[in-house]
Amino acid sequence: MISQFLTYIIPATEKIGTQKMIVQKPYISVVIPVHNEEENLEVLYRRLTKVLDNLGKPYEILLTNDGSTDRSSEILKSLHELRPTQIRVIEFNGNFGQHMAIMAGFERVRGEIIITMDADLQNPPEEIPKLVAAMEKGHDVVNAYREDRQDQKWRLFVSKAHNKIREWMMPKLRMKDEGCMLRAYRRNIVDLMASTGERTTFIPALALNYATNPTEVGVAHAERLAGESNYNLYGLIRYNFDLITGFSLFPLQAITFTGVIISFLSFVFVMYLFMRRLIVGPEVEGVFTLFAILFFLIGILLLGLGITGEYVGRIFQEVRHRPRFVVKHVLESETAREIEAVS
Ligand code: UDP
Ligand code: MG
Repeated sequence: MISQFLTYIIPATEKIGTQKMIVQKPYISVVIPVHNEEENLEVLYRRLTKVLDNLGKPYEILLTNDGSTDRSSEILKSLHELRPTQIRVIEFNGNFGQHMAIMAGFERVRGEIIITMDADLQNPPEEIPKLVAAMEKGHDVVNAYREDRQDQKWRLFVSKAHNKIREWMMPKLRMKDEGCMLRAYRRNIVDLMASTGERTTFIPALALNYATNPTEVGVAHAERLAGESNYNLYGLIRYNFDLITGFSLFPLQAITFTGVIISFLSFVFVMYLFMRRLIVGPEVEGVFTLFAILFFLIGILLLGLGITGEYVGRIFQEVRHRPRFVVKHVLESETAREIEAVS
């Protein structure tokens, strides 16, 4: 606590030309993953800095360029040059995914309150003060749910269905809307998440594992300002399956449970056939029924194998200990590093 206080009153300094500028340790850190967002970045910059400037607290913005193939990288560089102490850019060596891009930001944040949001302005930056206010009431995680979602119909359907399934499978993960990335976390939660070290992870779910006093607030939702969503239907299914197998053993347990029920029913069926043979005598009938039952059982077996394989695959990925992401370089002023050393 005292060291935190000291870093507030001993600000780092930065030389700009001949002037010495006092730079305070940020209170708010905004972490944003960027993948091919060239058309959105400038508007994002304008709207976000306006909101944060109005809040009147020291802040920083960390943008991770997650292997963009458009002009995002150049634009991010020029944004950093506009505000070298406030805007830090992490450049990845390739595309490691939205959550890893956020993780890279988490590893470097210096603020007390950390906000995550998308770069496409689907989450209006104007809602940030609402999250900060909720954090200041003492919550350690503030999840946002999108009121009046502006997405394509099929997206809404997949998302709703998945939310329901998740709630049913993982009642501990209480969130109205897991797809909304506008969220706020206290620093200790972010540090815990950054130290978790898993290769595939889903940040909002991970945060809830560590939260002691989470809450939810409703936020507005807009259409993508420009560009295309980075997820297609297959991507979304994959992503949601990852979430379930990454945070729960439910699928394995469901298969075991199904196995037990089927074994029990087969036993009853065998007993019935046995009694029937004793009473009615030998008979050949219902070959097709037998096939149907057989195919059903083979289906369940393959499903079980697939689900077990999914978990084994995860273990395989983790034991290889490859880096989760590779950072090419970081654009930040000397001062940013100085503050990091102090905090
Ligand atoms: N994103 C990323 N890496 C990826 C895919 C997406 O960093 O591989 C970023 C993207 O730039 C955006 C956020 O993650 O800031 C959400 O992505 P998108 O808008 O495509 O997803 P949707 O809103 O459609 O779920
Ligand atoms: Mg989006």
